[in-house]
Amino acid sequence: MVLHYLENIRRHQHFNAFLAVYDQEALAQADRIDQKLSDGTAGRLAGMVIGLKDVLCYQDHRVQAGSRILDGFQSQFTATAVQRVVDEDAIIIGHQNCDEFAMGSSTENSAFGPTRNAANPGFVPGGSSGGSAVAVQANLCTASLGSDTGGSVRQPAAFCGVIGLKPTYSRISRHGLVAYGSSFDIIGPFTHTVADAALLLEVMAGADDYDSTVSHEPVPPYSQQLAFDALKPLKIAYLPETLDNEGLHPSVKQATERTLDFLRSEGHTVEAVQFPLLKYVLPTYYILTMAEASSNLSRYDGVKFGYRSAHRGSLEEMYKKTRTEAFGEEAKRRIMLGTFVLSADYYDAYYTKAQKVRRMLQNATRKILAEYDFIVLPTTPTPAFALGTHANPLEMYLADLFTVQASIAGVPAISVPNGTDEQGLPIGLQIIGDAFQEARLLAFSQYVLARNA
Ligand code: GLN
Repeated sequence: MVLHYLENIRRHQHFNAFLAVYDQEALAQADRIDQKLSDGTAGRLAGMVIGLKDVLCYQDHRVQAGSRILDGFQSQFTATAVQRVVDEDAIIIGHQNCDEFAMGSSTENSAFGPTRNAANPGFVPGGSSGGSAVAVQANLCTASLGSDTGGSVRQPAAFCGVIGLKPTYSRISRHGLVAYGSSFDIIGPFTHTVADAALLLEVMAGADDYDSTVSHEPVPPYSQQLAFDALKPLKIAYLPETLDNEGLHPSVKQATERTLDFLRSEGHTVEAVQFPLLKYVLPTYYILTMAEASSNLSRYDGVKFGYRSAHRGSLEEMYKKTRTEAFGEEAKRRIMLGTFVLSADYYDAYYTKAQKVRRMLQNATRKILAEYDFIVLPTTPTPAFALGTHANPLEMYLADLFTVQASIAGVPAISVPNGTDEQGLPIGLQIIGDAFQEARLLAFSQYVLARNA
């Protein structure tokens, strides 16, 4: 299996999905696991070959978050989530390309060049976990682990026609995940099947002494709870503000409506629920994540990690040169805007206000989920776009219009494949569930995928 993936990776280098491939280690690990399989002592993930987004620490391996500022940096410890999959005998095959510090929606912001969509290499794979999505799409590994702050697992999963799960905030330890927006960041899997997503979540989730914010809710055996009792009619909400959105591509609209019709035909109640607050989700998300990013990224100063400017001068000058030379444009833009919204004169006008709006958005979303089993909506307004399409950052931010709501509310959401457009580009369907209801969300997704084919 490992050999097969290594061969695929070699044949598909032009996708630029992997930044580093651990071929010798993966092969050695495969031998050890084969032995365990014949001894009957293999773990739950034996046979899975996994790629890591370049924001997950893996001891003694390079990690750069797609940035020059971490040039030459090696992890001193392994992220809890990664350790847990390794302990269950998954094989780690390499690190995958992403937007710098997970900031972006196309994987064009990486210091290592863009990743290409395997459905059409002229198109982006989405972002920020683009390399991780393409690696699963093109069969370069069994599954990938990405991170989702405002859509970075779901949006590239939609663009690449694979499954992408964003669990409830705090469901999985963030220890060893390079921080972007700490009150939003969550690790999530990319897979071909719902069963694999359930199994990976089950292994990664749960309490961890290294992350004081992780939830202590018991972890159900998700992979054993995928059977869906189709006889029980569900209540499904859809948001007219998403389906009537002027930026919505006709093929995405059609695909979503087809699924809603299917659910109706199966006897479920499908109702429109007004969500006029939708217009506030992007500004709220971007103000808060930029603020958090400006604080998280202040640690990269040329002293503690990675890159240091060759320029000789005072300490202050060294900091400045290092950061100027090594951060890309989008990271700099966010550091500056984030610093601005946190500055004494503007803190209340932007940061405090955005926190209040976040609470309103959270309450409104949770209220819908108290009344309905799921919210069903498109994952993205459009299918994948051609490389270089969105030079304007504001246009790029619109790609996250439908994914940030679940991030702001902290609730779980999944993107599952929902057909293709007339050019053969994948379309994603997003399903949002209530906090810690991943078992139901996964079972429902499996049912929709199997029956709506
Ligand atoms: N595209 C969004 C952003 O740039 C989401 C990124 C993410 O989820 N990491 O912030």
